[in-house]
Amino acid sequence: MPDAHPDSQQVIQDNRDHTLFSWSVQQAANPIHMTGGKGSHFYDGDGGTWLDFSSQLINLNVGHQHPAVLDAIKAQVDTLCFAGPSFATDVRATLGKKLREVTGLGKSFFTLGGSEANENAMKMARLYTGRDKIITRYRSYHGATMGSMTASGDPRRWPVEPGVPGIVRAFDPYCYRCPFGQNVESCKRECVSHIEEIIQMEGPQNIAAIMVEGITGSNGLLVPPDDYYPKLRALCDKYGILIIDDEVMSGFGRTGKWLATQHYGIKPDIVTCAKGLTSGYMPLGAVVVSDAIAEYFETHFLAGGLTYSGHPVSLAAAVANLKVYEDENLFGRTREMGAYLALRLEAMKAKYACVGDVRYKGLFSVIELVKDKATREPLAPFNGTSPEMGKLAGHIKSRHVYAYSRFNFLWVCPPLIITKEELDAGLAVYEEALALVDQMIAAPVAA
Ligand code: PMP
Repeated sequence: MPDAHPDSQQVIQDNRDHTLFSWSVQQAANPIHMTGGKGSHFYDGDGGTWLDFSSQLINLNVGHQHPAVLDAIKAQVDTLCFAGPSFATDVRATLGKKLREVTGLGKSFFTLGGSEANENAMKMARLYTGRDKIITRYRSYHGATMGSMTASGDPRRWPVEPGVPGIVRAFDPYCYRCPFGQNVESCKRECVSHIEEIIQMEGPQNIAAIMVEGITGSNGLLVPPDDYYPKLRALCDKYGILIIDDEVMSGFGRTGKWLATQHYGIKPDIVTCAKGLTSGYMPLGAVVVSDAIAEYFETHFLAGGLTYSGHPVSLAAAVANLKVYEDENLFGRTREMGAYLALRLEAMKAKYACVGDVRYKGLFSVIELVKDKATREPLAPFNGTSPEMGKLAGHIKSRHVYAYSRFNFLWVCPPLIITKEELDAGLAVYEEALALVDQMIAAPVAA
């Protein structure tokens, strides 16, 4: 455990005085001063140790300070720190080949992160098909740049509206709260068939692509029914519409496979990725396109690219990070730990009144909290919070477990290297918090 920083409060104050924090009303920003990390833990300025139960932004898959990735970054810095985007480099060749192998698609276009990958995916889909519109889903997040933010369905898009034109939205496969009022027995996959109606109303000849998160992450981890993607693939094939599979959060081992859609046996036309591509050690995203789309750009102008596209140090971090996944069998381990986590989550659902639903795939999981199991009334309103959610998050934080919660959702997305003991330690704190919420909902404060 590291020593306390000599002047941690001043560092925090300087951060607040001279920098702006993302997604925050600045006065309300309450940053932890992070001073270092190792594996599943990071350290704060008071000398405290935190269990990172959300892998930072669900991206730090190999954990903090993995030596193999650090060594690769240092070696690349010493060899060639920068090359412009039109140069060929060794790492670019290596990563391009690897991404072709793991996605089963064609060529990769490199970006600096997920939002920019989605911008380029939409642009390429429009250029390739000659069509204008993109369908996305309401409970989705695709990024914070103008086009990706507009494409997102959730309220994070509101500040940029009307945003870029041509985005059309559909409902999600959210089985716990089916937007079509169905249940498991009555479901006829209206979540797919209503997309066909949207396609007809918008004009199939106008729709370039549907962009979906492989498994929806930050809007409540929506695991689709097994036949959702095969049906969506067939629908898109019928109308010549591309599938852009946003695997920024769900890809690269998080669910125990390279891509979440690989669980469902379909092949998208375009895959976007970022986070788990480098485990966050360097900024990098990629748009991986099918052979057909790659072929199109052999003879058509690819209008896009930034000064730092294909930055060699980022590419070297990715190559090393992907090697760690394979050398340490992290995806096998994720499936194994995920099976144990699933048992624990189901037990919590049976035990606590406030746990309405649990959803999971590998180490990608969420607890959906309710005030009442029978009515499924959410513990906090959509796009809002509540004293109960405040208590839950506050307790977990007070025990130095770093967790991601939003609306009435609480995620469990630890690094893929997490041990069973670490997982148990974090879940024990979650259970304390759930018990506190159960007490609150059993004895509501009189209005
Ligand atoms: N797509 C998805 C599914 C995401 O979860 C995110 C980030 N949380 C993004 C895109 C945007 O990626 P970035 O923050 O790297 O731009």
